[in-house]
Amino acid sequence: MKVALVNPSWNYDGSIYFGCRQPHLPLELGYCRALLEADGHETLMLDGQLQRLANSELAETVAAFGPDMTVVATAPTYLFWRCAPPELRIPGDLLRRLGARGGRTVAVGPHASATPGPTLRKLGVDLVVRGECEEVVARLAASDTWEDVASTAVFDDGVVKTTSGLHASAFIDHPPLRWPRAWLAAHRHHHHRFDEPQIGLGAEVEASRGCPYNCSFCAKIDFRDAYRRRNLKHVLAEIDGLIEQGVGYIYFIDEIFLPQKPLLEALVERDVRFGVQTRIDLWKPALLELLGQAGCVSIEAGLESLTVEGRESLAKRCRLGTEELAALLIDARRYVPFVQANLIGTVGDEPSLVTYWRAHLQEHDVWANDPVPLYPYPSSPSYRALWGEPDDKAWERAHEYYLAQFGAFSDLQDKRPSPLPQLEHACGCAS
Ligand code: SF4
Repeated sequence: MKVALVNPSWNYDGSIYFGCRQPHLPLELGYCRALLEADGHETLMLDGQLQRLANSELAETVAAFGPDMTVVATAPTYLFWRCAPPELRIPGDLLRRLGARGGRTVAVGPHASATPGPTLRKLGVDLVVRGECEEVVARLAASDTWEDVASTAVFDDGVVKTTSGLHASAFIDHPPLRWPRAWLAAHRHHHHRFDEPQIGLGAEVEASRGCPYNCSFCAKIDFRDAYRRRNLKHVLAEIDGLIEQGVGYIYFIDEIFLPQKPLLEALVERDVRFGVQTRIDLWKPALLELLGQAGCVSIEAGLESLTVEGRESLAKRCRLGTEELAALLIDARRYVPFVQANLIGTVGDEPSLVTYWRAHLQEHDVWANDPVPLYPYPSSPSYRALWGEPDDKAWERAHEYYLAQFGAFSDLQDKRPSPLPQLEHACGCAS
């Protein structure tokens, strides 16, 4: 079978999207391709940002390939499934341009996982995958009827018909990924890196997936949920391949980069820098030192609130007090040139306390951002605490709530994010 795997040409104008806007490797499509090719299928993988192709060009390229099946992602990369743009206008635009020329069409991503009905309707695809997508896409390619493929949804006489469960990939044995040289050459961005000099190309790698915690704001219930650690040999083989292709910096997209001594010791021996997101309360000073020796140059630590009460209200299950957390962050900064404490706008956190702790951390060269507001993503516990299981209006409801609740927005966001129907109307998604 011929399968096209497409990451659209993203554009975030008017979006609340607060993830990074630079191009990143679409790891989910990379895994799909590896599994499909291992099964003997012919693939075409495209990325609008890395290849600087507009949706119109992507559509023409797919059409010229003449696939039996086209898979389109609804988030820019696995790294941002937990904070995807809520609107589906960009994948919708691509699919409309492609029309019937892509064979059977499939959407993968957080929207398909949490809200299959609206995703089918807005995108007009034949099927959506619910949960992590790589093995499901491989099964779709191997199946003539699709009816018996688990973790999918289709419209059947106008009614959404789902097959059992959300898919969690086995993940641990995923093979080392290889990327086209031209894609890496276009990936000069070192994600979440702020030290200098920045030598070599950038890339994203996954050493583990999921997280054992359940913070209230974290949108991972439907995908990337349970913690799994990837076979270390495969991770290192992938990293060695990237270094050989000129990569000087990798970002581990792991939800929570847990202390893993063998990986850190292996990285000490390699000429590569890297960045991680983690929880600082899970690190001991000796391991922080090893993390720095291994080449870590960027830590994004989810602190979220600067009070015990605030962290409890977010279900952080953090056993340390603010002083101890601050001491660990300051310790980490001795070994790692950029350390950030991520803060969320938590109702109840005294502004004066926030100001005090931010100043304290910044005095020690630890960056603590201006607290950013929460978006109640449909795959988060906070969405379900507010409104129950996501229904057909889940994204619209979350969006309205968010726009109404916060007058000030993160620096990274568009200053005047638009209502969801308005964003999607432009490409016909809202109809
Ligand atoms: S620790 Fe991080 S990844 Fe884990 S649930 Fe909390 S926010 Fe999500």
